[in-house]
Amino acid sequence: MCGRGFGNQPETMSVLSRRRFLAAATAFSAARPAFAQNLPGDKDVVIIGAGAAGIAAARKVQAAGRSVAVLEATDHVGGRCVTDTTTFGVPFDRGAHWIHSPDVNPVAKLVLTNRMGLEVNPAPPGQKIRIGRRYAREGEMESFLSSLVRANRAIGDVARASKGDVAAAAALPKEFGEWRGTVEFVLGPYATGKDLSDLSAADLAQQAERETAAFCRQGFGTLLQRLAQGVPVTLNTPATQIGWGTRAGSVDIETPKGQISARTVIVTVSTGVLASGSIRFKPDFPKRQLDAAGRLKLGSYDHVALELAGNPLGLQRDDLMFEKTDNVRTAALLANVNGTSLAMVDVGGRFGRELSAKSEADMVAFAVDWLVNMFGEDVRRAVKRTAATRWNADPYTLGAMSGAAVGGQPSRKILMEPVGRMFFAGEAAHETLWGSVGGAWESGERAADLAVKRVQQDVSGREPETKRRREPETKRKRR
Ligand SMILES: Cc1cc2nc3c(=O)[nH]c(=O)nc-3n(C[C@H](O)[C@H](O)[C@H](O)COP(=O)(O)OP(=O)(O)OC[C@H]3O[C@@H](n4cnc5c(N)ncnc54)[C@H](O)[C@@H]3O)c2cc1C
Repeated sequence: MCGRGFGNQPETMSVLSRRRFLAAATAFSAARPAFAQNLPGDKDVVIIGAGAAGIAAARKVQAAGRSVAVLEATDHVGGRCVTDTTTFGVPFDRGAHWIHSPDVNPVAKLVLTNRMGLEVNPAPPGQKIRIGRRYAREGEMESFLSSLVRANRAIGDVARASKGDVAAAAALPKEFGEWRGTVEFVLGPYATGKDLSDLSAADLAQQAERETAAFCRQGFGTLLQRLAQGVPVTLNTPATQIGWGTRAGSVDIETPKGQISARTVIVTVSTGVLASGSIRFKPDFPKRQLDAAGRLKLGSYDHVALELAGNPLGLQRDDLMFEKTDNVRTAALLANVNGTSLAMVDVGGRFGRELSAKSEADMVAFAVDWLVNMFGEDVRRAVKRTAATRWNADPYTLGAMSGAAVGGQPSRKILMEPVGRMFFAGEAAHETLWGSVGGAWESGERAADLAVKRVQQDVSGREPETKRRREPETKRKRR
């Protein structure tokens, strides 16, 4: 999923293509988060979820010198940004793959400054458009790109002008022309996981342009895992209940392994998980926040990964391709991922949701047929190993990324409000970088700042009592 930077005029893209985002490659160090099997003792801050937001928050709390524990429901860190290195023998990013705007992306900046032994390369600018069995000619590409610019502008204009919010689809001029289907796919399902008819124009207009991108050769998930080095994560430990009003000065978190208490908790689970009720809150989760999560429900976005022997598509490393279409049953192709024989056929929005609800085999069959229609039967013969993600069915995510429903844009700010000693973070809690790893990261850091401040207030206000109660375990044992 690349984003909304496609409306650039060709001359803008040639400028961008000269911008190089250089690899930072040094010795490869086997970095691991500090995994614990059992629940640790009480902490200043407990973080629910070890995705980008949780990792960022934990690092910030550690840097402030406060004690922290991260509880993660699954057997790995990264959440929606995770790299599978076993299925294909080469890194396959099952979730996030594009490092958007690497010049300003907080995650990319950390890779460069920390020299983590990872190779980060700029993504080639632009994209190809397939029209049946041929590629779009220069004039057709110009027409497509100017339609994208027109659509972006129309959405922005409507968002600024209208008193109430409208669906992004309604912002497009009625007589939009032959590129409508493709433009709607690129701005809707491809960039956000939602059809434009299900998406708030105000929210889309607020989303930051993603004009440049980069890829990590070892996988974006590997990169995130590396950033989790030294973060104390307890895996396979879902929070089942958060008691945020049970005892003065404390939040009690229940898990199948027992209970852990903290002065504050940062909840980073997706809006899908929040709204699902799978975590019980005591007292109940406030309606204001619950409604906000409901208006920021996750869209659908999945990768169908195909190993294609012998480059039957004849494309270059990391070539991105859409098809000219008036049909919603379409996809995006990222060919020769990081120079390997892996191709990713991405589906999203309502069609993607419908397809992923069937089976992995159905998803693979669609992807192969889609390519065969455009490139011929040789593609079918070249298919080796395959895999498809199904994020909607993942109980600890329940979807892909949060695009706001009409009227839902202000809900992002509501999610950022503290509730007692609870703070919320995650991609949905960012007004311009929602739906991205960078946004999740920044939201985690913001929540950590608030949580640390709250802890500091506690400590300075009630030092003798809290000090006694929170004395480090090592000291207690020595007595
Ligand atoms: C297919 C796909 C492609 C994408 N492509 C891109 C891309 O190219 N570039 C980009 O920047 N972004 C992309 N995104 C979006 C990006 O992955 C997310 O915005 C980001 O990873 C979200 O991070 P997070 O920390 O907010 O949430 P998550 O990653 O969802 O982290 C939340 C964590 O909480 C855990 N959890 C859930 N319930 C519990 C519980 N009860 N107890 C404990 N832990 C729990 C989850 O297991 C998870 O690890 C993509 C997403 C998908 C799905």
